[in-house]
Amino acid sequence: MFKNARIAKVVFFAACLTLALCIAGSAMATEITSTTHVSDHVWVYTRNISAANCSTPAINLYTCSLCGATEERREGASDPNAHVWGDWNISTPATCVTSGTRYRQCMLNVHHTQEDVIAAYGHTPTERIVTVATCTTTGLKEIYCARCGQIISTEVIPATNHSWGPWTTIKQATCTEPGEQTHSCTVCGLTENAPFGSALGHNWGSWQIINAATCESNGLRTRVCLRDASHVETEVIPATGHNWGPWVVTKQANFWEEGIRERTCTICGLKQTEKIPTTTFPNATVCAFGPRLKESNLYPNYSDKWYMFTPFDASLNGSQTYELVAADSVIVGDVTLNIRDGYLTVDYSLKGGDAIHITLEFFTVLNSISDLSQYEPEGLMYLKINRNQAINLYEKFGGDTHLVLYFCSRCSLTQSPAFKSLQYNSTAHKSLLSAMYALMD
Ligand SMILES: [Zn+2]
Ligand SMILES: [Zn+2]
Ligand SMILES: [Zn+2]
Ligand SMILES: [Zn+2]
Ligand SMILES: [Zn+2]
Ligand SMILES: [Zn+2]
Repeated sequence: MFKNARIAKVVFFAACLTLALCIAGSAMATEITSTTHVSDHVWVYTRNISAANCSTPAINLYTCSLCGATEERREGASDPNAHVWGDWNISTPATCVTSGTRYRQCMLNVHHTQEDVIAAYGHTPTERIVTVATCTTTGLKEIYCARCGQIISTEVIPATNHSWGPWTTIKQATCTEPGEQTHSCTVCGLTENAPFGSALGHNWGSWQIINAATCESNGLRTRVCLRDASHVETEVIPATGHNWGPWVVTKQANFWEEGIRERTCTICGLKQTEKIPTTTFPNATVCAFGPRLKESNLYPNYSDKWYMFTPFDASLNGSQTYELVAADSVIVGDVTLNIRDGYLTVDYSLKGGDAIHITLEFFTVLNSISDLSQYEPEGLMYLKINRNQAINLYEKFGGDTHLVLYFCSRCSLTQSPAFKSLQYNSTAHKSLLSAMYALMD
Protein backbone atom coordinates (compact mmCIF):
# COMPACT_ATOMS: atom_id res chain seq x y z
CA MET A 1 0.00 0.00 0.00
CA PHE A 2 2.72 2.36 0.94
CA LYS A 3 4.60 1.45 -2.16
CA ASN A 4 1.54 2.34 -4.23
CA ALA A 5 1.06 5.59 -2.35
CA ARG A 6 4.61 6.54 -3.13
CA ILE A 7 4.02 5.94 -6.78
CA ALA A 8 0.94 8.10 -6.63
CA LYS A 9 2.90 10.87 -4.97
CA VAL A 10 5.42 10.76 -7.72
CA VAL A 11 2.62 11.14 -10.25
CA PHE A 12 1.14 14.06 -8.42
CA PHE A 13 4.60 15.52 -8.01
CA ALA A 14 5.00 15.45 -11.77
CA ALA A 15 1.72 17.22 -12.16
CA CYS A 16 2.77 19.86 -9.65
CA LEU A 17 5.97 20.26 -11.69
CA THR A 18 3.87 21.08 -14.66
CA LEU A 19 2.03 23.76 -12.83
CA ALA A 20 5.23 24.87 -11.11
CA LEU A 21 3.35 26.27 -8.21
CA CYS A 22 4.27 24.36 -5.04
CA ILE A 23 7.33 22.71 -3.66
CA ALA A 24 7.60 19.77 -1.54
CA GLY A 25 9.39 20.10 1.70
CA SER A 26 11.59 17.23 0.73
CA ALA A 27 15.04 16.78 -0.79
CA MET A 28 13.28 16.19 -4.11
CA ALA A 29 11.51 19.49 -3.76
CA THR A 30 14.75 21.21 -2.98
CA GLU A 31 16.03 19.80 -6.20
CA ILE A 32 13.09 21.32 -8.08
CA THR A 33 13.41 24.78 -6.49
CA SER A 34 16.19 25.86 -8.78
CA THR A 35 14.15 25.57 -11.88
CA THR A 36 10.65 26.66 -10.86
CA HIS A 37 8.71 29.20 -8.90
CA VAL A 38 7.95 27.52 -5.70
CA SER A 39 5.30 28.04 -3.02
CA ASP A 40 4.20 25.71 -0.09
CA HIS A 41 1.29 23.25 -0.52
CA VAL A 42 -1.82 23.95 1.41
CA TRP A 43 -2.87 20.52 2.67
CA VAL A 44 -6.54 19.78 3.29
CA TYR A 45 -7.85 16.56 4.88
CA THR A 46 -9.75 14.71 2.27
CA ARG A 47 -10.76 11.28 3.60
CA ASN A 48 -9.73 8.30 5.65
CA ILE A 49 -8.07 5.56 3.67
CA SER A 50 -7.79 2.97 6.36
CA ALA A 51 -8.76 2.91 10.00
CA ALA A 52 -6.27 2.26 12.74
CA ASN A 53 -5.74 -1.43 13.48
CA CYS A 54 -3.79 -3.52 15.95
CA SER A 55 -0.55 -2.97 14.06
CA THR A 56 -0.87 0.37 12.22
CA PRO A 57 -2.33 3.84 12.94
CA ALA A 58 -5.06 5.18 10.68
CA ILE A 59 -4.00 6.46 7.18
CA ASN A 60 -5.69 9.62 6.02
CA LEU A 61 -5.54 11.30 2.60
CA TYR A 62 -4.73 14.95 2.28
CA THR A 63 -5.05 17.03 -0.89
CA CYS A 64 -3.35 20.26 -1.62
CA SER A 65 -5.93 22.96 -2.18
CA LEU A 66 -3.60 24.81 -4.47
CA CYS A 67 -2.19 22.22 -6.76
CA GLY A 68 -4.35 19.23 -6.04
CA ALA A 69 -1.39 17.13 -4.94
CA THR A 70 -2.25 14.43 -2.43
CA GLU A 71 -0.46 13.00 0.51
CA GLU A 72 -1.18 10.03 2.80
CA ARG A 73 -0.43 10.46 6.41
CA ARG A 74 -0.26 7.99 9.26
CA GLU A 75 -2.05 9.63 12.04
CA GLY A 76 -2.76 8.76 15.67
CA ALA A 77 -1.88 5.57 17.40
CA SER A 78 -2.66 1.95 16.45
CA ASP A 79 -6.00 0.43 17.87
CA PRO A 80 -5.15 -2.58 20.07
CA ASN A 81 -8.66 -3.92 19.67
CA ALA A 82 -8.97 -3.72 15.91
CA HIS A 83 -7.76 -7.08 14.74
CA VAL A 84 -8.27 -8.70 11.41
CA TRP A 85 -9.32 -12.16 12.51
CA GLY A 86 -8.70 -15.29 10.52
CA ASP A 87 -11.07 -18.26 10.51
CA TRP A 88 -11.91 -20.12 13.73
CA ASN A 89 -9.93 -23.27 14.37
CA ILE A 90 -11.45 -26.05 16.53
CA SER A 91 -9.22 -27.00 19.39
CA THR A 92 -11.76 -29.23 21.25
CA PRO A 93 -14.93 -30.13 19.36
CA ALA A 94 -18.22 -29.76 21.22
CA THR A 95 -20.52 -32.79 21.63
CA CYS A 96 -24.24 -33.15 22.41
CA VAL A 97 -23.54 -32.98 26.10
CA THR A 98 -20.10 -31.34 26.50
CA SER A 99 -18.93 -27.93 25.31
CA GLY A 100 -15.88 -27.51 23.03
CA THR A 101 -13.32 -24.74 22.40
CA ARG A 102 -12.05 -22.84 19.31
CA TYR A 103 -9.44 -20.22 18.60
CA ARG A 104 -8.46 -17.74 15.86
CA GLN A 105 -5.42 -15.68 14.98
CA CYS A 106 -5.15 -12.11 13.89
CA MET A 107 -3.90 -11.89 10.31
CA LEU A 108 -1.98 -8.79 11.19
CA ASN A 109 -0.16 -10.32 14.09
CA VAL A 110 -0.13 -14.07 14.76
CA HIS A 111 0.44 -13.41 18.40
CA HIS A 112 -3.03 -11.94 18.65
CA THR A 113 -5.33 -14.90 19.35
CA GLN A 114 -8.85 -15.31 20.62
CA GLU A 115 -10.37 -18.39 22.30
CA ASP A 116 -14.05 -19.18 22.56
CA VAL A 117 -16.32 -21.84 24.09
CA ILE A 118 -18.49 -23.83 21.73
CA ALA A 119 -21.75 -24.64 23.59
CA ALA A 120 -22.88 -28.29 23.83
CA TYR A 121 -25.28 -28.99 20.99
CA GLY A 122 -27.86 -30.84 23.00
CA HIS A 123 -29.31 -34.02 21.56
CA THR A 124 -31.30 -34.15 18.37
CA PRO A 125 -34.21 -36.39 19.33
CA THR A 126 -35.31 -38.67 16.55
CA GLU A 127 -37.90 -41.44 16.63
CA ARG A 128 -37.45 -44.93 15.33
CA ILE A 129 -39.49 -48.14 15.60
CA VAL A 130 -37.50 -50.96 17.14
CA THR A 131 -40.26 -53.55 17.19
CA VAL A 132 -43.46 -53.19 15.22
CA ALA A 133 -46.66 -53.87 17.21
CA THR A 134 -48.81 -56.70 15.87
CA CYS A 135 -52.42 -57.66 16.48
CA THR A 136 -51.45 -59.52 19.61
CA THR A 137 -47.99 -58.28 20.68
CA THR A 138 -46.79 -54.88 21.75
CA GLY A 139 -44.14 -53.01 19.80
CA LEU A 140 -41.31 -50.75 20.93
CA LYS A 141 -40.43 -47.19 19.90
CA GLU A 142 -37.11 -45.45 20.71
CA ILE A 143 -36.24 -41.79 20.86
CA TYR A 144 -32.54 -41.60 20.06
CA CYS A 145 -30.11 -38.77 19.29
CA ALA A 146 -29.45 -38.57 15.62
CA ARG A 147 -26.06 -37.03 16.35
CA CYS A 148 -24.57 -39.21 19.04
CA GLY A 149 -26.87 -42.22 18.88
CA GLN A 150 -27.72 -42.17 22.56
CA ILE A 151 -31.13 -43.65 23.41
CA ILE A 152 -33.09 -41.01 25.23
CA SER A 153 -36.33 -42.91 25.95
CA THR A 154 -38.35 -45.95 24.91
CA GLU A 155 -42.08 -46.32 24.59
CA VAL A 156 -44.26 -49.42 24.34
CA ILE A 157 -46.58 -49.39 21.34
CA PRO A 158 -49.87 -51.15 22.28
CA ALA A 159 -50.93 -54.24 20.35
CA THR A 160 -53.29 -53.20 17.59
CA ASN A 161 -55.78 -56.05 18.20
CA HIS A 162 -57.15 -57.98 15.31
CA SER A 163 -59.09 -56.27 12.58
CA TRP A 164 -61.72 -58.85 11.95
CA GLY A 165 -63.28 -59.08 8.55
CA PRO A 166 -66.94 -60.04 8.13
CA TRP A 167 -68.28 -63.43 9.21
CA THR A 168 -68.74 -66.07 6.53
CA THR A 169 -70.97 -69.07 7.06
CA ILE A 170 -69.06 -72.31 6.52
CA LYS A 171 -71.66 -74.79 7.77
CA GLN A 172 -75.45 -74.49 7.95
CA ALA A 173 -77.31 -75.50 11.13
CA THR A 174 -78.67 -79.06 11.20
CA CYS A 175 -81.37 -80.71 13.26
CA THR A 176 -78.98 -81.31 16.11
CA GLU A 177 -76.14 -78.82 15.71
CA PRO A 178 -75.83 -75.08 15.19
CA GLY A 179 -74.13 -73.76 12.05
CA GLU A 180 -70.54 -72.59 11.92
CA GLN A 181 -69.06 -69.34 10.74
CA THR A 182 -65.56 -68.02 10.31
CA HIS A 183 -63.80 -64.65 10.07
CA SER A 184 -60.21 -63.63 9.48
CA CYS A 185 -58.03 -60.82 10.64
CA THR A 186 -57.31 -58.57 7.70
CA VAL A 187 -53.93 -57.79 9.17
CA CYS A 188 -52.41 -61.05 10.38
CA GLY A 189 -54.71 -63.53 8.68
CA LEU A 190 -55.67 -65.36 11.86
CA THR A 191 -58.90 -67.29 11.43
CA GLU A 192 -61.48 -67.84 14.12
CA ASN A 193 -64.56 -70.08 13.96
CA ALA A 194 -67.73 -69.74 16.00
CA PRO A 195 -71.14 -71.40 16.24
CA PHE A 196 -73.85 -69.77 14.26
CA GLY A 197 -77.55 -69.79 15.09
CA SER A 198 -78.91 -72.80 16.95
CA ALA A 199 -79.81 -76.40 16.14
CA LEU A 200 -83.05 -76.54 14.17
CA GLY A 201 -84.54 -79.54 15.94
CA HIS A 202 -85.98 -82.45 14.02
CA ASN A 203 -88.96 -82.01 11.76
CA TRP A 204 -90.65 -85.29 12.49
CA GLY A 205 -93.10 -86.94 10.15
CA SER A 206 -96.05 -88.83 11.59
CA TRP A 207 -95.63 -91.99 13.62
CA GLN A 208 -95.77 -95.30 11.75
CA ILE A 209 -96.92 -98.27 13.80
CA ILE A 210 -94.62 -101.29 13.51
CA ASN A 211 -96.33 -103.41 16.14
CA ALA A 212 -99.53 -102.33 17.78
CA ALA A 213 -99.66 -102.55 21.54
CA THR A 214 -102.02 -105.11 23.07
CA CYS A 215 -103.47 -105.31 26.56
CA GLU A 216 -100.36 -107.08 27.85
CA SER A 217 -97.50 -106.49 25.38
CA ASN A 218 -95.78 -103.30 24.27
CA GLY A 219 -95.98 -102.14 20.65
CA LEU A 220 -93.43 -100.27 18.61
CA ARG A 221 -93.68 -97.17 16.41
CA THR A 222 -91.23 -95.19 14.34
CA ARG A 223 -90.97 -91.79 12.64
CA VAL A 224 -88.54 -90.20 10.22
CA CYS A 225 -87.21 -86.64 10.15
CA LEU A 226 -88.45 -84.79 7.06
CA ARG A 227 -85.24 -82.80 6.97
CA ASP A 228 -82.87 -85.78 7.09
CA ALA A 229 -84.15 -89.30 6.53
CA SER A 230 -81.25 -90.78 8.45
CA HIS A 231 -82.82 -89.35 11.60
CA VAL A 232 -85.17 -92.09 12.79
CA GLU A 233 -86.82 -92.34 16.15
CA THR A 234 -88.29 -95.60 17.41
CA GLU A 235 -90.45 -95.67 20.47
CA VAL A 236 -92.13 -98.31 22.54
CA ILE A 237 -95.90 -98.02 22.75
CA PRO A 238 -96.80 -99.11 26.26
CA ALA A 239 -99.17 -102.03 26.67
CA THR A 240 -102.68 -100.64 27.05
CA GLY A 241 -103.52 -102.77 30.06
CA HIS A 242 -106.79 -104.67 30.17
CA ASN A 243 -110.05 -102.83 30.14
CA TRP A 244 -111.85 -104.83 32.75
CA GLY A 245 -115.58 -105.05 32.90
CA PRO A 246 -117.27 -105.07 36.32
CA TRP A 247 -116.69 -107.87 38.80
CA VAL A 248 -119.42 -110.51 38.76
CA VAL A 249 -119.78 -112.65 41.87
CA THR A 250 -120.13 -116.28 40.89
CA LYS A 251 -120.05 -117.57 44.43
CA GLN A 252 -120.91 -115.52 47.50
CA ALA A 253 -118.50 -115.66 50.42
CA ASN A 254 -119.82 -116.48 53.86
CA PHE A 255 -118.32 -116.90 57.29
CA TRP A 256 -117.27 -120.45 56.48
CA GLU A 257 -116.19 -120.34 52.82
CA GLU A 258 -114.47 -117.92 50.45
CA GLY A 259 -116.46 -116.67 47.48
CA ILE A 260 -115.39 -116.26 43.85
CA ARG A 261 -115.81 -113.31 41.51
CA GLU A 262 -114.95 -112.93 37.84
CA ARG A 263 -114.35 -110.09 35.35
CA THR A 264 -113.69 -110.00 31.62
CA CYS A 265 -111.49 -107.67 29.50
CA THR A 266 -113.71 -105.88 27.00
CA ILE A 267 -110.80 -105.77 24.53
CA CYS A 268 -109.16 -109.20 24.55
CA GLY A 269 -111.81 -111.22 26.36
CA LEU A 270 -109.41 -112.45 29.05
CA LYS A 271 -111.21 -113.65 32.15
CA GLN A 272 -109.88 -113.05 35.63
CA THR A 273 -111.18 -114.79 38.70
CA GLU A 274 -110.54 -113.81 42.26
CA LYS A 275 -111.40 -115.25 45.65
CA ILE A 276 -113.67 -113.25 47.93
CA PRO A 277 -112.46 -113.56 51.51
CA THR A 278 -114.73 -115.11 54.14
CA THR A 279 -116.96 -112.66 55.90
CA THR A 280 -116.11 -111.50 59.40
CA PHE A 281 -118.33 -109.90 62.01
CA PRO A 282 -116.83 -106.88 63.63
CA ASN A 283 -119.89 -106.40 65.81
CA ALA A 284 -121.90 -109.61 66.16
CA THR A 285 -124.36 -110.62 68.80
CA VAL A 286 -123.76 -113.76 70.90
CA CYS A 287 -126.74 -115.55 72.46
CA ALA A 288 -127.28 -118.80 74.31
CA PHE A 289 -129.22 -121.41 72.32
CA GLY A 290 -133.00 -121.30 72.53
CA PRO A 291 -136.07 -119.99 70.69
CA ARG A 292 -135.55 -116.96 68.47
CA LEU A 293 -137.39 -113.80 69.34
CA LYS A 294 -138.75 -113.43 65.77
CA GLU A 295 -140.17 -116.97 65.78
CA SER A 296 -142.16 -116.36 68.93
CA ASN A 297 -144.89 -113.70 68.74
CA LEU A 298 -146.19 -114.69 72.14
CA TYR A 299 -144.82 -111.58 73.77
CA PRO A 300 -146.03 -108.01 73.96
CA ASN A 301 -142.66 -106.61 72.95
CA TYR A 302 -142.44 -108.48 69.69
CA SER A 303 -139.09 -108.29 67.92
CA ASP A 304 -138.03 -109.55 64.50
CA LYS A 305 -134.50 -110.19 65.78
CA TRP A 306 -132.94 -113.59 65.55
CA TYR A 307 -131.70 -113.22 69.17
CA MET A 308 -132.31 -116.34 71.28
CA PHE A 309 -133.42 -116.76 74.84
CA THR A 310 -133.05 -119.90 76.96
CA PRO A 311 -135.93 -121.21 79.13
CA PHE A 312 -134.70 -123.62 81.80
CA ASP A 313 -135.94 -125.55 84.81
CA ALA A 314 -134.46 -124.12 88.00
CA SER A 315 -135.72 -126.99 90.13
CA LEU A 316 -133.00 -129.31 88.80
CA ASN A 317 -129.89 -129.30 90.89
CA GLY A 318 -126.65 -129.53 88.92
CA SER A 319 -125.20 -128.07 85.76
CA GLN A 320 -126.97 -127.23 82.50
CA THR A 321 -124.91 -126.34 79.46
CA TYR A 322 -126.12 -124.54 76.32
CA GLU A 323 -124.32 -123.59 73.16
CA LEU A 324 -123.32 -119.95 72.64
CA VAL A 325 -124.25 -118.86 69.12
CA ALA A 326 -122.79 -115.78 67.39
CA ALA A 327 -124.38 -114.11 64.39
CA ASP A 328 -127.21 -116.68 64.48
CA SER A 329 -125.00 -119.36 62.90
CA VAL A 330 -121.64 -119.89 64.60
CA ILE A 331 -121.17 -121.95 67.74
CA VAL A 332 -118.45 -120.12 69.66
CA GLY A 333 -118.65 -121.64 73.17
CA ASP A 334 -120.95 -122.68 76.00
CA VAL A 335 -122.84 -121.08 78.82
CA THR A 336 -123.26 -123.10 82.01
CA LEU A 337 -125.93 -122.73 84.68
CA ASN A 338 -125.06 -124.22 88.09
CA ILE A 339 -127.97 -124.76 90.49
CA ARG A 340 -127.14 -125.96 93.97
CA ASP A 341 -128.83 -125.51 97.35
CA GLY A 342 -131.24 -122.81 96.10
CA TYR A 343 -128.51 -120.75 94.49
CA LEU A 344 -127.79 -120.14 90.82
CA THR A 345 -124.52 -119.05 89.17
CA VAL A 346 -123.93 -118.36 85.47
CA ASP A 347 -120.59 -118.75 83.65
CA TYR A 348 -119.49 -119.16 80.07
CA SER A 349 -116.45 -120.20 78.04
CA LEU A 350 -115.38 -119.36 74.49
CA LYS A 351 -113.52 -121.38 71.84
CA GLY A 352 -111.34 -120.06 69.04
CA GLY A 353 -108.81 -118.06 71.07
CA ASP A 354 -108.25 -114.67 69.46
CA ALA A 355 -110.92 -115.29 66.82
CA ILE A 356 -113.53 -113.93 69.22
CA HIS A 357 -113.51 -110.96 71.55
CA ILE A 358 -116.41 -110.03 73.76
CA THR A 359 -116.93 -106.31 73.39
CA LEU A 360 -119.99 -106.04 75.62
CA GLU A 361 -120.88 -108.69 78.17
CA PHE A 362 -124.55 -109.02 79.12
CA PHE A 363 -126.64 -111.79 80.58
CA THR A 364 -129.44 -111.95 83.11
CA VAL A 365 -132.03 -114.41 84.51
CA LEU A 366 -135.75 -113.58 84.43
CA ASN A 367 -139.11 -115.08 85.33
CA SER A 368 -140.23 -114.58 81.76
CA ILE A 369 -138.86 -113.14 78.52
CA SER A 370 -141.86 -110.77 78.63
CA ASP A 371 -140.24 -109.09 81.65
CA LEU A 372 -137.91 -107.35 79.22
CA SER A 373 -138.90 -103.90 78.00
CA GLN A 374 -136.47 -104.31 75.07
CA TYR A 375 -133.91 -106.80 73.76
CA GLU A 376 -130.77 -104.77 72.92
CA PRO A 377 -128.14 -105.35 75.61
CA GLU A 378 -127.01 -101.71 75.62
CA GLY A 379 -130.40 -100.73 77.07
CA LEU A 380 -130.50 -103.53 79.67
CA MET A 381 -127.27 -103.08 81.57
CA TYR A 382 -129.15 -102.31 84.79
CA LEU A 383 -130.28 -106.00 84.76
CA LYS A 384 -126.80 -107.43 84.20
CA ILE A 385 -125.51 -110.16 86.50
CA ASN A 386 -121.86 -111.14 86.70
CA ARG A 387 -120.06 -114.39 86.05
CA ASN A 388 -120.37 -116.74 89.00
CA GLN A 389 -122.48 -114.25 90.95
CA ALA A 390 -124.61 -116.36 93.41
CA ILE A 391 -128.29 -115.65 93.04
CA ASN A 392 -130.78 -116.77 95.71
CA LEU A 393 -133.52 -118.30 93.57
CA TYR A 394 -136.29 -118.10 96.13
CA GLU A 395 -135.45 -114.59 97.12
CA LYS A 396 -135.37 -113.35 93.56
CA PHE A 397 -138.04 -115.41 91.79
CA GLY A 398 -140.39 -116.56 94.61
CA GLY A 399 -141.41 -120.11 93.92
CA ASP A 400 -141.18 -119.88 90.15
CA THR A 401 -138.79 -122.49 88.76
CA HIS A 402 -139.53 -121.95 85.00
CA LEU A 403 -137.00 -119.25 84.42
CA VAL A 404 -135.36 -117.65 81.36
CA LEU A 405 -131.66 -116.97 80.74
CA TYR A 406 -131.26 -114.01 78.43
CA PHE A 407 -127.62 -114.06 77.26
CA CYS A 408 -127.09 -111.31 74.73
CA SER A 409 -123.48 -110.07 74.43
CA ARG A 410 -121.64 -108.32 71.63
CA CYS A 411 -118.41 -109.61 70.04
CA SER A 412 -116.02 -109.29 67.13
CA LEU A 413 -115.68 -112.54 65.21
CA THR A 414 -113.31 -113.98 62.62
CA GLN A 415 -112.74 -117.51 61.31
CA SER A 416 -111.43 -120.30 63.55
CA PRO A 417 -111.43 -124.08 63.00
CA ALA A 418 -112.69 -124.35 66.58
CA PHE A 419 -116.01 -122.89 65.51
CA LYS A 420 -118.86 -125.00 64.20
CA SER A 421 -121.93 -124.16 62.23
CA LEU A 422 -125.21 -124.18 64.10
CA GLN A 423 -127.59 -126.89 62.80
CA TYR A 424 -130.70 -125.25 64.13
CA ASN A 425 -133.05 -127.76 62.54
CA SER A 426 -131.18 -130.90 63.58
CA THR A 427 -133.16 -133.50 65.52
CA ALA A 428 -131.24 -132.85 68.71
CA HIS A 429 -131.85 -129.09 68.51
CA LYS A 430 -135.52 -129.57 67.62
CA SER A 431 -136.13 -131.75 70.64
CA LEU A 432 -134.24 -129.34 72.84
CA LEU A 433 -136.40 -126.49 71.56
CA SER A 434 -139.57 -128.47 72.26
CA ALA A 435 -138.45 -129.03 75.83
CA MET A 436 -137.72 -125.31 76.17
CA TYR A 437 -141.14 -124.30 74.78
CA ALA A 438 -142.70 -126.59 77.34
CA LEU A 439 -141.02 -124.61 80.11
CA MET A 440 -142.46 -121.30 78.93
CA ASP A 441 -145.21 -119.93 81.12
ZN1 LIG B 1 0.12 22.00 -3.95
ZN1 LIG C 1 -4.14 -8.06 15.52
ZN1 LIG D 1 -26.71 -36.49 20.95
ZN1 LIG E 1 -54.70 -59.96 13.42
ZN1 LIG F 1 -83.64 -84.33 11.83
ZN1 LIG G 1 -107.41 -107.35 27.54
